[in-house]
Amino acid sequence: MKGFRYLNNVATLELDEAACIGCGRCLEVCPHQVFSVENRKAALIDKDACMECGACARNCPVKAIRVEAGVGCASGIINEWLRERNLRASGGECCS
Ligand code: SF4
Ligand code: SF4
Repeated sequence: MKGFRYLNNVATLELDEAACIGCGRCLEVCPHQVFSVENRKAALIDKDACMECGACARNCPVKAIRVEAGVGCASGIINEWLRERNLRASGGECCS
């Protein structure tokens, strides 16, 4: 979804950097480029882009990621729909 953003500072995503072994699976499975991996450690580089799909937590081999999956995904889609609807109502550009 172009320009997708979740609400700022509400994603439940948490990363235990001490537990991370730097395998890169979270980087591979995340659809929104939330992670980077440098020096064999993952980092959250865009936490507000997380839609709480849960793929990273399910695929982390050492359970270093925690996220409350499910609700956020639906909320993110609804929020994006509302944002585009409000942009259309105000005459702004939204879709291409
Ligand atoms: S829950 Fe989904 S969107 Fe959020 S960081 Fe994990 S893989 Fe990415
Ligand atoms: S999947 Fe888990 S162990 Fe692998 S890089 Fe990501 S946080 Fe670290």
